[in-house]
Amino acid sequence: MKKVVCCMLICMISIFGISSVKAVDLNNQIKFNYKYNRSITNACYWVDSSAAVFTSQINAAAADWAGYSNPLNMTAVSSNYATHMDFYGKADNYWGSDGTIGETLHYLNGGSYISPNNGSWFYADIYLNVGRQYNIQGTTAHEIGHALGLAHWNSNPNSIMAQSNYRIVNTVRPIDNQHLNEIYS
Ligand SMILES: [Zn+2]
Repeated sequence: MKKVVCCMLICMISIFGISSVKAVDLNNQIKFNYKYNRSITNACYWVDSSAAVFTSQINAAAADWAGYSNPLNMTAVSSNYATHMDFYGKADNYWGSDGTIGETLHYLNGGSYISPNNGSWFYADIYLNVGRQYNIQGTTAHEIGHALGLAHWNSNPNSIMAQSNYRIVNTVRPIDNQHLNEIYS
């Protein structure tokens, strides 16, 4: 198992943002300090059975990001071996039923947690709330943005990286892709 349980929460997005005290708002820091420590040109992702109900939305969100002009390619695979992103479903009470609908955690190769502002990462785990099932494609696209190195941008409601209570779009926007290209250029 390359996964470790970690209670450090990097991204908590919420339907009821003000109620989510675990939310980490990095003062509208648009990009994390670090990024993947390997190419994203052949990025693979895996959907755990716990998130299988969201497979179509996950695929759509992955294709949304990869469909832009950027270095990213996203391929769904049947094993989590060496994947860039793994998707898991979590029950609402995993987050204490506090309104959280998604979370992304970054890890080194081997499974140690790494803050995306403290160092580069090898893979990311994305947790989706199967109890709330709120705007899954938009939520997933937002979380994929975190996995790729984008932080929150709550001052721009037209960015997929604004949290759900600030955001009026549910697909990746050109400005989001521009930031991705700035990270991986
Ligand atoms: Zn977020």
